Amino acid sequence: RQQMARGLPKQKPITGVKQVIVVASGKGGVGKSTTAVNLALGLTAVNPSKSVGVLDADVHGPSIPKLMNLKGNPELTDNNLMIPLTNYGIPCMSMGFLVDDAAPIVWRGLMVMSAIEKLLRQVNWGSLDYLVVDMPPGTGDVQLSISQNIPVAGAVIVSTPQDIALLDARRGAEMFKKVNVPVLGLVQNMSVFQCPNCHHQTHIFGSDGARRLAETLGVHFLGDIPLHLNIREMSDRGQPVVVSSPDSPEAEAYKKVAAAV
Ligand code: ADP
Repeated sequence: RQQMARGLPKQKPITGVKQVIVVASGKGGVGKSTTAVNLALGLTAVNPSKSVGVLDADVHGPSIPKLMNLKGNPELTDNNLMIPLTNYGIPCMSMGFLVDDAAPIVWRGLMVMSAIEKLLRQVNWGSLDYLVVDMPPGTGDVQLSISQNIPVAGAVIVSTPQDIALLDARRGAEMFKKVNVPVLGLVQNMSVFQCPNCHHQTHIFGSDGARRLAETLGVHFLGDIPLHLNIREMSDRGQPVVVSSPDSPEAEAYKKVAAAV
């Protein structure tokens, strides 16, 4: 109450978590979740002494269970906190662990908020240096409520170089600025496709749009991730490239982003 009287936001840290990094995008399908898991794995690859977890806040379309090859219901601690499921050394929590795979997740605004509240406050993370949060796409209530309820160290915004994606990425960046969350920078995903046969490079979604947007917004450009078959195939198998092909150029691209964050 005193805090509110002073006009400060009522932010409360997540127990055990030092820094929260949110991964956001304006649009769906631009590779936000794929970037979030490879960023989390990249953070441990470039800082082996740091512990990293992943929270899937995309309650409507949770992707983390599939991307991290995790399934099942979390066990509870004695005081009823959920214990994250772990793969590749990364503890993860997702609505996907709590609901049926095939059942549509149809819920109203208030239920979404209580689901987010549960994911933010009722998980036993142990001790983490970084919690990477895979946000839902867009700039709605969930993004706002996360940004206002927990101290967020920074936001990483993922976009393709396409104008229509950039427009929404810009809205995302402006939203974080408005709620005083530092924008750590932009990641340009699907920047270039290299033909595996002739090695010709094609900029399918345009070139360098996200780099230019970063300049316009005065935020860092964190790097390019190529459009690569291996990224799609390995993601679908639940074996993100940073762990399944750690020495590949595409894994290096994610590690470069992790080092820049
Ligand atoms: P979002 O979280 O933004 O909805 P996803 O991470 O689920 O997007 O990615 C959408 C689709 O694109 C997935 O099938 C994913 O495997 C694929 N994908 C993402 N990034 C790349 C990339 N750099 N190269 C190839 N496929 C990618």
